Amino acid sequence: MPELLRPASVDEAAGLFASHGAAAAILAGGTGLLRETHPSDDGVLIALDRLGLDRVESRDGGWSVGAAVSLSGLRAAVPIPALQAATREIGGPAVQNMATVGGNLFARAPFGDLAPALLALGARLVFASADGEEEQPIEAFYAGWSEDGAPRAGLLTRIEIDEPAGAVSYLKCARRRYASPSVVSVAASVEKDGSGAVSDARIALSGASAHPFRCAAAEQAVIGAGLDDAAMAAAGAAAEAAVTPATDPVASDWYRRRMAGVFVRRALAALA
Ligand SMILES: Cc1cc2nc3c(=O)[nH]c(=O)nc-3n(C[C@H](O)[C@H](O)[C@H](O)COP(=O)(O)OP(=O)(O)OC[C@H]3O[C@@H](n4cnc5c(N)ncnc54)[C@H](O)[C@@H]3O)c2cc1C
Repeated sequence: MPELLRPASVDEAAGLFASHGAAAAILAGGTGLLRETHPSDDGVLIALDRLGLDRVESRDGGWSVGAAVSLSGLRAAVPIPALQAATREIGGPAVQNMATVGGNLFARAPFGDLAPALLALGARLVFASADGEEEQPIEAFYAGWSEDGAPRAGLLTRIEIDEPAGAVSYLKCARRRYASPSVVSVAASVEKDGSGAVSDARIALSGASAHPFRCAAAEQAVIGAGLDDAAMAAAGAAAEAAVTPATDPVASDWYRRRMAGVFVRRALAALA
């Protein structure tokens, strides 16, 4: 049975994570980790429940979200409709009350429905390690993933979210309306200049590749254009070409690829 450790400070938790190496796992809401943990396992679980990471602080121009804030807590505290929509799409109410913002960012495909919203919002992740604190853009975190999942980046302590400069949309394609894993989930944010042309865009997907990612080719298809049918179709086609979907009991790779294109078009149409 893994030993449960409950450090009382972030420094202590980061030290334990470093000293136990690969034998340590961080226990947040436990909705993912405990399903994978067997009584015969060795190692240690480092709980986050005494670290004060379950709070959202409103700051000038945005929010600092503790990594152990629940998905329903995020929805209540940060009034960005696309982000709130993403939290509603993750499991049912019980999962949303237990699962944390930080934990969902480590979920493997087809889970990980919060990430596209945070990628589209340009969120930044703050990690604590034995060497101190490090902040990185969320896309840099996912760029470091391998086929085996997340790198050992340290203890994620908070997520910095700025008020969006433009409009943001979020959509999930699933087999059932509620409590269903993703075929694909998509978020888009666009800023427009005075003429209505797109001056900046962020388009992100989850579920259709090994990890969530920003789709640069889809973004380039709309930047400089108006959000017309041709630009949205080009962005959808670019997303279809960029994803590397898997076949699993939820969907075939063929269907996921098609839905990636369809849902990128729809996410952009919601902002047109
Ligand atoms: C019934 C059910 C339905 C679900 N449906 C969906 C769905 O529709 N969409 C979806 O996206 N997900 C879904 N999930 C998965 C669920 O959202 C994730 O398991 C959950 O978000 C993980 O968060 P957690 O706080 O429970 O993390 P935990 O289970 O505690 O941890 C998960 C992983 O993240 C790591 N971790 C957690 N916090 C940190 C941190 N602060 N720093 C570093 N590492 C950390 C842990 O070490 C572990 O490897 C579902 C799960 C269940 C049980």
